[in-house]
Amino acid sequence: MFRVLVFGLFHETHCFLRGSTGLRDFEFMEGPAILNVRGESSPLGGFLEYADQQGWDVVPTLFATAVPGPMVEAEVFEHYWSRFEEIATSCLATGVDAIFAILHGAFVCSHQCDVDGEVLRRIRSLPGALSIPMFGVYDLHANYSQSMAMNADCLVGYRENPHTDARESAMRAAALLSRALSDRKRPRQVLKQVPVLLPPTATASRAQPMKRLLELARSLEKKHSSFWAMNVNAGFAYADTPDTGLSFSIVTDGDEDEAQKALNQLTELAMEHLEDCTSVLESMEQVFHRLMGMQRSGGIPGLTVLVEPSDNIGAGAPGNGTALLQAMVEYEIANGAICLWAPMAVKLLSKHQPGDVVLLEFESSGVKNNDLPLFIECKLLRLCDGLFEIEDKQSHLASMSGDHFNMGQCAIVTHRGVVIFLTSNRTPPMDLGQWRHVGLAPEKFSVLVVKAAVAHRKAYDPIAARQIWVDTPGPCSSNLKSFAYKKIRRPMFPLDDIVR
Ligand SMILES: [Zn+2]
Repeated sequence: MFRVLVFGLFHETHCFLRGSTGLRDFEFMEGPAILNVRGESSPLGGFLEYADQQGWDVVPTLFATAVPGPMVEAEVFEHYWSRFEEIATSCLATGVDAIFAILHGAFVCSHQCDVDGEVLRRIRSLPGALSIPMFGVYDLHANYSQSMAMNADCLVGYRENPHTDARESAMRAAALLSRALSDRKRPRQVLKQVPVLLPPTATASRAQPMKRLLELARSLEKKHSSFWAMNVNAGFAYADTPDTGLSFSIVTDGDEDEAQKALNQLTELAMEHLEDCTSVLESMEQVFHRLMGMQRSGGIPGLTVLVEPSDNIGAGAPGNGTALLQAMVEYEIANGAICLWAPMAVKLLSKHQPGDVVLLEFESSGVKNNDLPLFIECKLLRLCDGLFEIEDKQSHLASMSGDHFNMGQCAIVTHRGVVIFLTSNRTPPMDLGQWRHVGLAPEKFSVLVVKAAVAHRKAYDPIAARQIWVDTPGPCSSNLKSFAYKKIRRPMFPLDDIVR
């Protein structure tokens, strides 16, 4: 029976946001508690299921995760490492056959740009860890580093965005580990970083440029029997590090040349279509004039989802931007709805009764060139608890948090016909269970604002008559030239002109 040590360290870090992500924001699971997520839809759940099927003896160590957000404090990583080192050292001393990692790939600390690569490097330095295979799974939005390539034998990325395949990818990685253990083979990884930075709005796996890159990766994988896995890493544009950007990695037991040639093919394909690597969104004025026109000529048919990537919670934004709320009120949109992160407003409302009219203050805290806070009178409909079961166990949200998500205490209020759903915890809009849990039917609204770029689509595509991506001020703007990059490698499209 193989003994496999498992650990996880998971964060997507937005370096341009105000504030920081601290220990208070992280959820830690240690030792046997990790085994309790058996059956869940997360990558960890997928690994545990595969391990059970194989009869592996899983050695659970330490798992830490937080919702995407601002720069992580150095203390978080060092706290994690000191505890992990203690647990892992004693486990390794009793004999372990392999290590399995669950990572994101875009974790940045104030003292360490490449936390994912650094944790793998440190693990390799522990007694007994160099001689055993280290495999793992990571997110498609990874800023894949040389240290990740050098210090692991085989890392497998998700292939879908929205991330419907997180659990499946972990099982794919575990199956490759099983092959390494039974064949006593150790593959290695070859990485190619490309001078292209994709805004999250351009990283959907069913749209270009990702679609054709993923297709080529699948066909190269089939053609070369030495390739164990090929990864297309979209990168995470708001992590400002030397590794940020699009990259490709190959896990191979063949020769270096063969891998480099395949990586070059992918690179050429990406560079031939730079026009697909940016996205230009419609202005609020354009969008609302269109909606007004529809409203005047008999009403807006079906549900219109207004997608607001600049306040994309799944990419670290606060989810409290009020620009679209104000526009819905100003343009007198009937039957509109928006969900906002507003812990202070919920706290104030918790002292009130349904029916009370309360003056609420809304602050758009993540936004550069911040507007003044918005003060509006709202009528409280009800207060609700926020722990909900995720409806779609293959949703992007399940890839991050397993089967449940806690929005904290919630309040439903209205203001001039707009329903405002307030949460205490930042809640990425990736599962409709969020609305139904608080007694709202999202498909019944005419206009509904979603603070996401792509990850919401599996949930909202089936109920939306149309979706419109709107340009609003916010920290996850698709205009990457508006960010003051300091550490990213140059030249980098679209920040620089790339001569091909
Ligand atoms: Zn992702």
